[in-house]
Amino acid sequence: SALVSAATGEKREIQYPRKPDGKPKYPSEIFGENVFTLKTMAKALPKPIFASFLKQRRGRQNLDKTTADSIAHAVRVWAMDRGATHYTHWFQPQTGSTAEKHDAFLSLVTNFTPGGEEATPIDLFSGSQLLQSEPDASSFPSGGMRTTFEARGYTIWDTSSSMFVQKGPNGTSILYIPSVYISYNGDALDEKTVLLRSNDVLSRAATELVNLLEPESHVSHVYTTLGTEQEFFLVDRKLYSLRPDLKITGRTLVGQLPPRHQQLEDHYFGRIPSRVMSAISELELECLRLGIPIKTRHNEVAPAQFEVAPIFEEASVAVDHNLLTMDVLHKVAHRHNLRVLYHEKPFKGVNGSGKHCNWAIATDRGENLLDPTVRPETNYRFIIFLLAVLRALQEHAPLLRVAISSSSNEHRLGAQEAPPAIISAFLGDQLNEVLDAIEENRPLKNFSVPQFQSIKVGGTVLDVKVSALPHISRDLTDRNRTSPFAFTGNKFEFRAVGSKQSPSFPVTVLNCAVTAAIHEITQALRTQMGDKVVPSDEDKLKVIREYIKQTKGVRFEGDNYSEEWVTEAARRGLPNIKTAPEAFTYLIKEKHMDMLTKETGIFSEGELRSRYHILNERYAKDVIIEAETLHALIGQQILPAAFEYRKALAESAAALSVLKVELGPEVDALNEVAPLVQTLQREHKKLAEALTQLADSEEHGANKHAVTACSTVVPAIARVREAADALEAIVADKYWPLPKYTELLLTI
Ligand code: ADP
Ligand code: MG
Repeated sequence: SALVSAATGEKREIQYPRKPDGKPKYPSEIFGENVFTLKTMAKALPKPIFASFLKQRRGRQNLDKTTADSIAHAVRVWAMDRGATHYTHWFQPQTGSTAEKHDAFLSLVTNFTPGGEEATPIDLFSGSQLLQSEPDASSFPSGGMRTTFEARGYTIWDTSSSMFVQKGPNGTSILYIPSVYISYNGDALDEKTVLLRSNDVLSRAATELVNLLEPESHVSHVYTTLGTEQEFFLVDRKLYSLRPDLKITGRTLVGQLPPRHQQLEDHYFGRIPSRVMSAISELELECLRLGIPIKTRHNEVAPAQFEVAPIFEEASVAVDHNLLTMDVLHKVAHRHNLRVLYHEKPFKGVNGSGKHCNWAIATDRGENLLDPTVRPETNYRFIIFLLAVLRALQEHAPLLRVAISSSSNEHRLGAQEAPPAIISAFLGDQLNEVLDAIEENRPLKNFSVPQFQSIKVGGTVLDVKVSALPHISRDLTDRNRTSPFAFTGNKFEFRAVGSKQSPSFPVTVLNCAVTAAIHEITQALRTQMGDKVVPSDEDKLKVIREYIKQTKGVRFEGDNYSEEWVTEAARRGLPNIKTAPEAFTYLIKEKHMDMLTKETGIFSEGELRSRYHILNERYAKDVIIEAETLHALIGQQILPAAFEYRKALAESAAALSVLKVELGPEVDALNEVAPLVQTLQREHKKLAEALTQLADSEEHGANKHAVTACSTVVPAIARVREAADALEAIVADKYWPLPKYTELLLTI
């Protein structure tokens, strides 16, 4: 069809930055040039002011007026030198993306002259403007936290994340101030406030435990680290613009797989198509300037699917950087006539996209508490923190399930390419053996690590020294891509997180659950120690053994996709929460709610209930939007196309019969099409009925509404799709009104 050739977008390449002498700049020289880093700030501020800022930042106290005014002045000058005309408090409402409202630096002051009043323009940015702004943001989801008549929400500068400038329109730029978003009463209305709180409590709990285990370690602060592997699809913009389903819902609601898609496994790690390569390298350049350390890029499994991953950073900064990367890629893709799709399952039948959250805990001494080191079996500190994570999973797996639940991620969870809804942890053979040996009080089985491995390359035999690798234990952790939560050497990889969602809530929940587990284990250790100040190895081992036994049920090394695992998990009593609306209810179940509120103090009960409301409401809205989009698409485009084709067949049959030509083929085709058209029309009607039924359920509360959407509208959507896809397979191409998967997936 005419659409196939739509891909030939104009070539567009940017120039990689060069030094005055014409040589290319090194990435390390570009890194962070658009960021108002601490170093830049130190240069721009008088010494005592900078020192006082650092002090206040660490204590997270309010900044005093003089300091705030000085920083505001310095950052304005710095930003305006880079073309900034506006500033914005950049924040993360519970919509999964970021929000911003721009204000100009321009101000007017009134001069009283002998001739009368006169307004003089000045550029102004005060400390109080920097610290806080009050967007009229009454339209963000608040789950009933704010009534519209007192809709005030405040954005407040998060001093732990650096300000930066980004390109604006027409050669200008904008100063971004990373912010939290809270209500008049101080309730969190966003994703970041709770993440920062969870970092704080985890830090306190982990610091206490580390110092109890090893008093000489003098750790004063612990933080979580996060590296987000971001998967996405890139499709041609013009083709995209012809698919209302993609535009409105982010995924294709109809469409059949082409004969070749991912089965040859030729796309994964293959050569990156050149248009994509220039878009991704432009993304990387922008990210460098923004101080985002993108490290890896590669093709993913599905055609047109790709991944970028940064070097890990402190978790709340990593979250900012992930959201910013997504935003920059969206803009850059546009400039290359591409459209990025972040939906977890834009195409039925090929792999969906995830955001693997690599997570670990580090001390201010630079040590990773989840690093097993060379002899994990005697590294009690490592084992205890590992067990804390397992304990967190065992106690609060349903919360992790809540944190990854959305209507879009449902299409991915449990499907063959993504981890299932049963949350378990994979540790790998060696670590399992370490835990088993400790539990059974026996020596460790010998892991036969080949000292040298000979590899023949051409005519030469090379000796590869395996023992030269830094951590034998790390390299023995094999990979289990089916696990939703896998230990990968020195970190956990939470693989079930969706590509579209913010990593913030999953990390917050994980931090909370691990904090609760650390509290519990610390208490157990103190009880075991009695009056001692420092626990003996025997004390540690006793506690370790107890927790190994207790948490055994969440360890699973096998194939998470198998039917046997579903049965086995049920036998172990692990929750298998099949749908998102069911998952949401766990957020307000007593055990989990108590942990999130009373035990760790991360959420107030009101904040949790509002979040529960927002999650349910969002789920139902997403399903309704899909249903309405599909309903219109079928009624306005697909059924009419099928009618046309049927008519053409009927007319040609009639014409042929006048000429007394044998009618077999046309009548056969007609007999094939006609019943499918009927089925589609019937399912189309039923979809409308399901929507009406859903509207009736709304009065029974947000969860009932979501549950009904899930049980009635979601299957109705699937049945319509089945009928439409069957038609797509037989209707002549020239009648089909939409670009097909072949075009969308294989044209970049
Ligand atoms: P793989 O998962 O294939 O082993 P990498 O080792 O490159 O890939 O890690 C994937 C992601 O995990 C990267 O973003 C990396 O920075 C991140 N990562 C590595 N170590 C840690 C850590 N200690 N804490 C958090 N993330 C980490
Ligand atoms: Mg990985």
